[in-house]
Amino acid sequence: MPTYEYECRECSAEFMKVMSMAEYAQARVSCPACGSERISRKFSPVYAKTSKKS
Ligand SMILES: [Zn+2]
Repeated sequence: MPTYEYECRECSAEFMKVMSMAEYAQARVSCPACGSERISRKFSPVYAKTSKKS
């Protein structure tokens, strides 16, 4: 399963979530430290890197 890394824009906490693509599509991710939903994703899922070939 892909790992999603997030950073909170409110308190700068970094955290990871492991979920399936289907879960990710529906997930409402909030910061575990302050509960804010103002978060940004840091990296793409690992396996997505192979999707680009030129
Ligand atoms: Zn936070």
